[in-house]
Amino acid sequence: MSQFRFSHRPHIGDKIHVSFEFFPPKTDDMERRLWDTVTKLQPLKPHFVSVTYGAGGSTRERTARTVRRILQETTLTPAAHLTCVGATRDEVDQVISEFKEIGIRNFVALRGDPATGVGTAYKPHPGGYANGAELVGALTAHGDFDISVAAYPEKHPQSPDFATDIEMLKRKVDNGATRAITQFFFDNDAYERYVERVRRAGIYVPVVPGIQPVHNFSQVANFATRCGALIPAWLAERFEGLDKDPQTHALVAAAVAAEQVLDLIERGVSDFHFYTMNRADLAFAICHMIGIRAEQESTASSAAA
Ligand code: FAD
Repeated sequence: MSQFRFSHRPHIGDKIHVSFEFFPPKTDDMERRLWDTVTKLQPLKPHFVSVTYGAGGSTRERTARTVRRILQETTLTPAAHLTCVGATRDEVDQVISEFKEIGIRNFVALRGDPATGVGTAYKPHPGGYANGAELVGALTAHGDFDISVAAYPEKHPQSPDFATDIEMLKRKVDNGATRAITQFFFDNDAYERYVERVRRAGIYVPVVPGIQPVHNFSQVANFATRCGALIPAWLAERFEGLDKDPQTHALVAAAVAAEQVLDLIERGVSDFHFYTMNRADLAFAICHMIGIRAEQESTASSAAA
């Protein structure tokens, strides 16, 4: 992955689809930053934008407020994340009904991590949905929704092996999931091997790579160790010594993410999900590099051609 394997391909943006992930803001300042980000990314016409949901319902109100505002004030299609950890079936069903009432038709269904933290042992709520697959079943029982689920190219840390991991993905798809979005990864070979395993297991939904632009290497590395994503040595080397040099860090981050995405395109991938951390800059730059342009820009360039 650290070598340039891709060729220059003009107009690749025509065939590429992207989605963007946001988290619900906590403060007025964060709210302003999110809306600046939404405003900047909207003209790129993403397939959908998703809003995360705190495990145990900790962001229930904020997630609902954010998806409602996206629905009312933009042309974007919002997808609400939903978790089932720490909640009864009735509580989860209630949240699904509330989202449905707002007008949400797209969901990202997740089990969620234990309240004790990412990577610690998980215990399902005795009266709740036990896992992502059961949550997908609950959603399908409530309506005809577009449902994405999580997938793990480097295996979920709780899974004893890939077979168990992919078996859970199969259950989620059998229950009605229409798309898998992966945990972030930096090893494209691992992603490719994973998709091969998934197809061999008879799962044919799109497995959309989750791309994490590295806004802050220390934070990403820290989170990666807890969620089972590998930080390759070459990646650590690239960000070495840049903790106090945000400008160079951002340039390196853009180069790394663009290289990863271009390499995946070369391997035939056409859909990407960006973990934006509510920041537009890197996601926008990478989209620009893969040929995804704001509407007025592409109109202007085709007029000039
Ligand atoms: P599941 O699919 O239920 O299980 C995950 C894995 O655990 C399975 O692959 C399976 O192999 C293993 N497993 C589960 N049960 C068993 C068992 N009984 N025995 C053996 N193995 C088992 N978290 C949030 O809190 N909010 C969010 O908004 C959010 N958004 C996310 C978006 C994406 C795209 C991704 C990839 C993750 C997101 N997460 C979010 C994190 C997610 O909640 C965690 O990764 C969680 O630990 C697993 O959720 P899941 O839906 O994959 O669980």
